Amino acid sequence: MQQCRLRRPAAFAAAALGLFAASCGGAGHAISTSVRMPPAKTTTPAGAIPTTSTLPASSTTTTTTPTATSTVATLPSGQPLSGKVVGIDPGHNGKNYTNPSFLNQQIFNGRTMENCDTTGTQTVSGYTEAEFNFNVAQYLTADLQTEGARVVLTRSNNSGVGPCIDQRAQILNASGAAVAIDIHADGGSPSGRGFAILEPVADGPNNAVIAKSETFGSDVRDSFLAITGMPLSTYDGTDGINFRSDLAGLNLTTVPKVLIECGNMQNATDAAMLTSTAFQQSSALALAVAITNFLR
Ligand code: ZN
Repeated sequence: MQQCRLRRPAAFAAAALGLFAASCGGAGHAISTSVRMPPAKTTTPAGAIPTTSTLPASSTTTTTTPTATSTVATLPSGQPLSGKVVGIDPGHNGKNYTNPSFLNQQIFNGRTMENCDTTGTQTVSGYTEAEFNFNVAQYLTADLQTEGARVVLTRSNNSGVGPCIDQRAQILNASGAAVAIDIHADGGSPSGRGFAILEPVADGPNNAVIAKSETFGSDVRDSFLAITGMPLSTYDGTDGINFRSDLAGLNLTTVPKVLIECGNMQNATDAAMLTSTAFQQSSALALAVAITNFLR
């Protein structure tokens, strides 16, 4: 989405897209405390997809929570999401950079007009945010399906262009989803670290889901902090939460939704995590746990 535009166009011809670095700033803050975790579990149910729900041993201790120690993070047991629909929007798309005129078309974001989308950011070595977002979305889809949910995605691959951010919101609004998540990674200052949850501000269309989105945002923040090893953002929001009125996906939503910036792709430590399969899988697991906590 638009909140973290490409900071350094680098390999992409982004200068032609009219993309500029944007501030994703905010006060840095320290650690939160309480974490609502599902009961610890050491096996997966029949029919589960263990490769998407099993963490490496080095990432499975929840030392930040005062109520649990050495808890192995796994998917909640059974099919707690049976009959539920969950929406996932993996931000951007892998070939967005090929079509500047498509990206530059103007859409209404709920408050004002803005570009249809951007290319997203990337690491210094060129690993794209679009790929990260899509990989996590795929792992999350598998986890949620294991839990019995039906999943609706805003894009089905990472080799296309679009859809625009307003259309992404409309896809999820029309899906019957009980909750939805926008998956992104940030392009902040290289010295900044960590993840942030971006939450909607009431503007009309989203009025009915503001409170639930705030509850869901806390679930996501606590789960992500406990499971992934990524710290809270040192530069975006307060205690990992930032309320944003400039994002189409949040302005236009009629289902409870937050956007997560899973880390800062411009920071070397965060980038090493974001580009690893283990972190992408644990990110998906953390989101699945949060979604389950929220829905049950
Ligand atoms: Zn993004």
